[in-house]
Formats: sequence, C-alpha cells, structure tokens
Amino acid sequence: MSPQIPVFKPLIEKEEISAAVKSLELGWLGMGSYVQQFEKAVADICNFAPDSNKYVVAVSTGHAALHLSLLMIGVGPGDEVITPSFNNAADFQAIRACGAEPVFVDIDENTLCIDPTKIEELITDKTRCIIAMDYDIFISDHAALAEISLRTGIPILHDAAHSFGSTYKGRPIGNQHQYTMFSFDPVKTITCIDGGAVIVSGEDALKKLQAKRLIGMTQSAAQMYTNSRAWTYDIEELGFRYHMPNLHAAIGVSQIDKIDEIRYTRQQACMRYYNELSVLDWIEAPKGDFNSINPFLYYVKVLNGKRTELREHMKRCGVDTGIHWQAGHNFSFLKECRRGSLDVTNRIVDQILSLPLHSKMSPHTLDQVIESVRSFNCG
Ligand SMILES: *Cc1c(COP(=O)(O)O)cnc(C)c1O
Repeated sequence: MSPQIPVFKPLIEKEEISAAVKSLELGWLGMGSYVQQFEKAVADICNFAPDSNKYVVAVSTGHAALHLSLLMIGVGPGDEVITPSFNNAADFQAIRACGAEPVFVDIDENTLCIDPTKIEELITDKTRCIIAMDYDIFISDHAALAEISLRTGIPILHDAAHSFGSTYKGRPIGNQHQYTMFSFDPVKTITCIDGGAVIVSGEDALKKLQAKRLIGMTQSAAQMYTNSRAWTYDIEELGFRYHMPNLHAAIGVSQIDKIDEIRYTRQQACMRYYNELSVLDWIEAPKGDFNSINPFLYYVKVLNGKRTELREHMKRCGVDTGIHWQAGHNFSFLKECRRGSLDVTNRIVDQILSLPLHSKMSPHTLDQVIESVRSFNCG
C-alpha cells in the first residue's frame, strides 16, 4: 500500500536543521539567548501597541502555558473555570492541575468556538476564569467575550493555540485579552518541536511568570538570556520546570521567519478544500475568513452519519484523517463536571473530520485528498 498522506506534516527544512545545529554548538542547552530571540519574534507577530504593556513569556508546552496562566489569574482549589467541552485535553488538565473544576459550555454551530450567549447562565460565585479557544479556521467572538468579562469581572484566558499569526478585526491575535496562550507543539502551525508562550500584561505579571516557569527562582531572565546564570536567588512562590530550552527556541525562530509563506500556503489549501468540497451535499465544508487567518486545520462536517465509513474509505485511498476532538464531558475523568446544555457539541462531535493540512502542501497531495472524499460512495 502506498504511504498515507498524514493529517499533520511538520515543515522541517534546512533552515530549521541549521538553526538546531547552531544552538547545540553554542554549548548552552538550557534557557538562553535563543529564548530571548524567540520571545521577540512572537512579540513581533503579535505587534503589540507601544502602550499595551504586553510581554511574551516562552514556556515548555502549551499545557504549561495554560497551567501558568490559570495560576497567574489566581485559579485554585474550589474554583470553577468555564471552558467549551469541545476543547483540547490540555485545557481540562490544566484546570484540574490548579485544583479547580471545569464547567462545560456549548459552542457556536457555525464556528465551533465558545458560544458567548451561553456563558452567563453558568457563572456562579466560584467562577474564576473563562477559557475561549479559537478553533481551526475560526476566531472566537472576542468582542462579546470582552464585554462579558468587563461586565462580570471574570478574566478571559484566550487559548490561541490554533490562531498564532491570525488576526481578529484587523488586530493580530494576542491583543484581545489580559491573558493569551500559544502552543508550538509538533503539530501546530509554527512548531518549536515542543513549546508554548503566555502573553501577560504588566511588568509585575512578567516578573512573576518568569519565576514561575523556572521552578520559582527569581534570578533574572535578562542574565539567562546572555547564556549564563546567577547562583543566588530567592524563591518566593510555587513554580514549575516549565522554561523553554535554547534548541527549541532556535527552531521556533527559524519557523517564524517563514510565517508568511506558511500562512499563505495553508490559506490556499483551505480555499481549495472549501471550493471543491462545499459543492457536495452530504458534507459541510466551512467557509472561514481565509485571508485573515493562519489556518491550523481544515475540518468538514460529515452530515450523513457515515464518518467512520468515510475515514476507512479515505484511508484505503492513502489519506489519513483526524478527529479534533472528542467532547470533554464524555471522558471518564470529567464526566461529573457541571455543564450547560451541550446540544451543538453533542451533535457535531460525531460529524467533524480533520483533513490533512500542511504548510507548502503540493497541489497533487491536495488533489489526492479531495478525490478521496469525492469518490466515497455515500448512498
Ligand atoms: C495543542 C493545544 C493545546 C496544548 O498545547 P501543547 O503544546 O500540546 O501542550 C492547548 N489548546 C489547544 C486548543 C491546542 O490545540
């Protein structure tokens, strides 16, 4: 059988490899100068306003970014965090890692992002945070979310793992709320192999977070960014070994250098999927605002109840597909969690199907995926 077209295919080219080699030859493997460069590159993409007082803190994973963001917000035992049930497992586990409980809210049928109209009925005096996640080719309704946050005083944690390099109403992602997190894991649009980042507001938050990612050590990041360290420091509060190593940061910098090409080629692939697949009546191919996003994945909804059969057929045609995700409230660890009505979530979790989406995807590969969908006998 011919090799499968994978759902994800990292773009690792000679630039990434030579950046990796250089960082290894530097002889400083831990957090150092490349991490500073990476944080600067992320900040450039976010293009913060000069008076925004926003800073980037690179960490080891997206999960670490979520965990630290929740702790910075003050989420602790007995608290509740409202999140879509339709979200990444990392979000649920980060909430539980704080000793708090996820509360599941439904999503908008058209974007599969959090439905702002269903949040407020779930708010209690235990609610400490609302997580809003941008899904695949869609961006959450951040204006409505900011309005809810302002009115209720509950902070929004923006999970932008899918939307690094996208824009919302003309502003880059990273500027919408007090806390934003990114993931740069192996399958994300921009990868560090593994990595994450938190956008924080204010120098106090910056200092606090810099210590928290370094098992609580207060030694200055500025010194570590010269590839050296202080031998004396204080520990003032709980911290974790969540910093980013130089090797990962070096790879991330070389990826961000290519973001325009990555974004453009993925946009083109999504448009092609939309144009070719939206004509089929048994699937729904979503139309995003393709020119304003850096697409993570392209999904379709299989409307005829034959997702399993379609996946098997595509696999026989050499095309792998994914499911992002199973609903949180169906996991045994989370089945007792409080929730609102999850009608949309329950309907779409059996319909959604992630198609392969790669940076610099070849027209031939795209043809093969499209043909594998079209040739499914759906009668
Ligand atoms: C990937 C992802 C995460 C977790 O990031 P990791 O770097 O894999 O820990 C969190 N949220 C969403 C929406 C993601 O897709």
